[in-house]
Amino acid sequence: LFDAEPEAWEVDAAELHTVASVVLPTGPKGPFDYLVPAALADSQQPQQFLEPGRRVRVPFGRGDRTVTGYCVEVGVKRVEANRLKTVAEVVDSRALLSAPMLRLTRWMADYYLCPWGQVLEAVVPAGVRGMAGTREVNFFTAIPGALAKFSALKLRSAQQRKALETLAASNRPLTAPEIAEAADCSLAPIKGLVKHGLIEAIRMRVATDSQSADAIGRESPLELNSDQEAAFRRIKSALDAGKASGIVLHGVTGSGKTEVYLQAIEHVASFRRQAIVLVPEISLTPQTVRRFRARFDRVAVLHSHLTDAERHQHWQSIARGEVEVIVGARSAIFAPTPHLGLIVIDEEHETTFKQDQAPRYHARDVAWQRAQAEHIPLILGSATPSLEAWVRAQRGEFEKISLPKRVMNLPLPDVMTIDMRDPAQTRFGHGAITRPLHQAMVEALRGGGQVILLLNRRGFSTHIQCPACGFVLKCDHCDLALTYHRQHNTALCHYCDHEVPPPRACPDCKSPAIRYGGVGTQKLEEEVRSRFPDYKCARMDVDSMRQRGSHENVLSAFQRGEFNILLGTQMIAKGLDFPNVTLVGVINADTALHLPDFRAAERTFQLVAQVAGRTGRGKRGGRVLVQTLNPEHPAIVAAARHDYARFADHELATRRAAHYPPFGAMIRLIIRGPAEATARETAQALGERMRAAVASNGVSGARVIGPGVAPIARLRGEFRFHLQIQGPEGAALKQAVRDAAQGFAAPDGVRWIADVDPWDM
Ligand code: ADP
Ligand code: ZN
Ligand code: ZN
Repeated sequence: LFDAEPEAWEVDAAELHTVASVVLPTGPKGPFDYLVPAALADSQQPQQFLEPGRRVRVPFGRGDRTVTGYCVEVGVKRVEANRLKTVAEVVDSRALLSAPMLRLTRWMADYYLCPWGQVLEAVVPAGVRGMAGTREVNFFTAIPGALAKFSALKLRSAQQRKALETLAASNRPLTAPEIAEAADCSLAPIKGLVKHGLIEAIRMRVATDSQSADAIGRESPLELNSDQEAAFRRIKSALDAGKASGIVLHGVTGSGKTEVYLQAIEHVASFRRQAIVLVPEISLTPQTVRRFRARFDRVAVLHSHLTDAERHQHWQSIARGEVEVIVGARSAIFAPTPHLGLIVIDEEHETTFKQDQAPRYHARDVAWQRAQAEHIPLILGSATPSLEAWVRAQRGEFEKISLPKRVMNLPLPDVMTIDMRDPAQTRFGHGAITRPLHQAMVEALRGGGQVILLLNRRGFSTHIQCPACGFVLKCDHCDLALTYHRQHNTALCHYCDHEVPPPRACPDCKSPAIRYGGVGTQKLEEEVRSRFPDYKCARMDVDSMRQRGSHENVLSAFQRGEFNILLGTQMIAKGLDFPNVTLVGVINADTALHLPDFRAAERTFQLVAQVAGRTGRGKRGGRVLVQTLNPEHPAIVAAARHDYARFADHELATRRAAHYPPFGAMIRLIIRGPAEATARETAQALGERMRAAVASNGVSGARVIGPGVAPIARLRGEFRFHLQIQGPEGAALKQAVRDAAQGFAAPDGVRWIADVDPWDM
């Protein structure tokens, strides 16, 4: 833009003007060009200097309506001035987004097929946009040569002189109370100096209150074992190389991955750069968070319970470079670090790294883009790497580092599968716990060990069904069975939270024999309490964990040994490290196995392998019992043998044959609306346009599947259809979606979205 020098002989109505490109958060796509008035183009006026990454108020539409948008570019362009409107105001006193971050958001918009403005709004937290928890304050600076002018004016006030000297000696602007304190004077002399024009005020935002994190005991680095040392050395050389690199750190559960991250980050901090550490969910990883805070002075923990003001303060101090390590969930990948040195994604296989609402990004892919933009390494750590990461390591695009053994030579736990197809052999009494599992629990508890039980289904009964006519109680708004929650005596939809009183008789045939079937965590809890009345038990699922801090409380009470049995949903499968857990029981390994999702086997393998990893971390060892109806399923067999490579080989062969990711790309279109017929017709029309777009672009190997009824056919009162587009080249598929969308208007009430690299069905 800047090399568009005027050609002297060109005669044109257009002239060179400073023009800002502005992206609006909602509405039409843009970017739109606006003239920048001279007052906003003066870098000597930093408060209102218009640079990319700041927000602006601009006139938009009819009348004198103005809207807030993001300035994404400023340049000199040859334009006809009367065709453009003018920027009204600069909102931010500093850029919210650096140039690399602007490029990253641009990439996300292209890659995930969503408006740039929507991405910008997702990247800058609401608390930052609203400048929560701050107020404007006057800061003072001395004008150049102020002291000489003070003498020239023959001013006499000793207090004024002292205040002026204080300010002139300061290397940053000071507030009036700061000057008064340093110069030991009242506020009056400061006013005097302003009146004489010797000092100037600028308005800046400051935090209304600043929080301090609780002090935490310091820990020193552990001595690395030889595998950790080798891993650390390879990461260190990647850091010293000063270029982008992807590293898959495949370390079995308890192999000491976190210690490797910590030492790598110490190295990063030693040359004054920052690190971002993404964890699946802050509240489920209190131990990891605590270890980071024990090793670094300046850690920002970005969790979902922060107030807007707290979030804004973290953002500001990160942007000022005051924070060494940022630990957070998915969105922490957007932390505005000035000199990022390393990104770590712990448990990178977790589904929480994919956002399930627009922009539907995956933090792993965004992190890799950011690592490339900032020329830094990205570490993907897991005991069960995602196949996406694994394939890149196999192809040599990413480096692979293994930690094949647990620390201190601890063995991995023995895993036994229990075949539930033979109830006579395995069941005893009513309930979900088989005889061998019951026996193992007795032994573990008697030996003073603790027990973890995994059941990935919340609620009490997972369905309410009439044995006489087969009726299943479903949500009024969704095509899903309601789950009985005994605690509140209600039948609840887990998708839309709709609830109804549980029926006493079948609503259809009036039979009183209606049955509450299927075991959820609440019923399991009841069973455990009645089987083991002498032991204490706690449950962890979204229903029992509604309050802030409840995860941390339960986990730390379990760590202190205040109860013996912890049962719950996949929440308890994450990276917890409890040496006294000697038994893990998986109540039903098959809950995810038959979902209509090409990742069903991968998720089953991950869940079983991860929860198995919670035991055998202490001197007493540990064992794992897995109840399943599919003991021969390759995912379950491999998990029982701690054999990731075997699982990956088998699963990758299946994916390759079906052209599923990570081989080739996939985009899913979801079409939904209140009327079934219109939604279906829209899906069909879109399907035809997609097929035409694929054909006319000559996208080889691409196919359009559907439209079909979505696996969840009805959700929150809307009928849902979906289309899948698969092909070897993601970019070509996206172009086809753009072409198909061009000029396509869905009928009123029908909406459709594109989910790039979809996760949930
Ligand atoms: P992972 O993240 O691979 O599951 P962690 O980093 O949580 O493993 O390590 C498991 C346990 O081993 C932790 O309690 C940790 O303090 C301990 N540990 C890690 N590295 C070492 C080491 N080199 N020497 C002794 N203990 C270690
Ligand atoms: Zn009935
Ligand atoms: Zn519902």
